[in-house]
Amino acid sequence: MLEQTSGYEVVIGLEVHAQLQTRSKLFCGDGTSYGTPPNTAISPITLGHPGTLPRMNSKAVEHAIRMGLVCHCDISHYNYFARKNYFYPDLPKGYQVSQHTTPICNNGFVKIKAAGKEKKVSLTRIHMEEDAGKSMHDEGGDVTLLDYNRAGTPLIEIVTEPVMNTAEEASAFLTEIRKLVRWIGACDGNMEEGSLRCDANISVRKKGEAKLGTKVEVKNLNSIRNLRKAIEFESARLIDILKNDGKVDQETRSFNADDDTTFSIRTKEDADDYRYFPEPDLSPFSFTQEYINELRAGLPALPEELFQKYTAEYGLPEYDAGILSDDKTLSDYFEKAVRGTKYYKGVANLLLGPVKSWLNDSTKDWSELQVDPAVWPKLVELIDSGKLSFSLAAQKLVPQLIEQNHADPVQLAKAMNLFQDANASDIQNWVEEVLNRMPEKVSEFKKGKKGLLGMFMGEVKKISKGKADPKITNDLLLEKLNQP
Ligand code: ADP
Ligand code: MG
Repeated sequence: MLEQTSGYEVVIGLEVHAQLQTRSKLFCGDGTSYGTPPNTAISPITLGHPGTLPRMNSKAVEHAIRMGLVCHCDISHYNYFARKNYFYPDLPKGYQVSQHTTPICNNGFVKIKAAGKEKKVSLTRIHMEEDAGKSMHDEGGDVTLLDYNRAGTPLIEIVTEPVMNTAEEASAFLTEIRKLVRWIGACDGNMEEGSLRCDANISVRKKGEAKLGTKVEVKNLNSIRNLRKAIEFESARLIDILKNDGKVDQETRSFNADDDTTFSIRTKEDADDYRYFPEPDLSPFSFTQEYINELRAGLPALPEELFQKYTAEYGLPEYDAGILSDDKTLSDYFEKAVRGTKYYKGVANLLLGPVKSWLNDSTKDWSELQVDPAVWPKLVELIDSGKLSFSLAAQKLVPQLIEQNHADPVQLAKAMNLFQDANASDIQNWVEEVLNRMPEKVSEFKKGKKGLLGMFMGEVKKISKGKADPKITNDLLLEKLNQP
């Protein structure tokens, strides 16, 4: 791949569509939930019957502005919608209502990390529009079925400048967008259901050339994997054309996930064909700086901010801070757990260690964790005081705390008989038992194989069922073993 691409530069710009999380559509009260029976959320407004009047959903506008703020955009105070006219079976009105020359957000950037390097991906704009219906080609035998439920669902389209150069950067960008829309609750980010989807614009030019090459646009990529595969395929195809002195056609293409290739669906139509004009049934809308400030003040702390706080204020290692600040449910849970305590590292160790393992084993995610977050600092206290070993806590107590949704680790540890309450004479007995059982190993140790200490420790731990304090066990073992 590397050899193949040397001498050429790939340029990528993305257009990401995100369905906004509103209960009703952008211009009427029809519901927006995914999977409702076909053509049941289609009032005459959705269908654009003559005489109907659209009304704007203010929640959608709020989501769009909040997303703009998170992406450092300039927010337009004055906005209007336009009609983009075209005929397509999934478009019942014959036009799509979209912002045209006045996107609600301009400029801005999103920070990504790819190949170990940070990069700011500049945005051109974020604009609002309504979604179209859905054509289903596979379910109706030899006819295409139409479901208009999706028509009129509010969308934002996030458009980047042509500033990415690899499939990895593009994937990192889309991953970051998915994280951000979920973080602020603007979109559920579910690519499988199509609530988040992406068009990739790709061109190739000779290295050092200032002018961008002719682009192709691959439509409707519905997973991060497919985005990556589509870019890899197109980059290689376009470079091949240039190498053979061919000419790239500006065209719209589609991705075939069966063999990770793309195919042409049409050559690019002229933008003027759409006959944009301001939507006459909706008045322009504007808002004040105070309103924008209010929305800004209501934004949750973002991953970057949390990372700063966790490293600087909580003193956590960057690794822990990175994981804790990557998932909003987890960081919310962690914040609740450490509230009013200083057990930042202790709680992080429990959450990122045994709790995470339990979730992985049960194929659950953080949102499914029921147990009261206040349990974890109590458990840290137990461990720190030496009453309970971390390994016993991790292996035995944590799974039970979660499964029983138990609020009191002290009580449960007692009931499970886990406390390191063995006294020195119990430990003395265990140590002797172990050493008596293994005379050969003892003499090997005495001849210098000091590494066996760990094995003896393990044996004592086993027969004591983890109740022997490791420090005392260690001391007693050495005392015995070092006797002539
Ligand atoms: P169109 O009018 O065809 O939709 P735009 O200029 O609005 O094109 O750009 C759409 C997207 O394509 C943007 O994300 C932009 O960054 C990207 N883009 C534009 N030109 C190129 C190019 N030559 N190579 C790669 N991406 C490009
Ligand atoms: Mg486009």
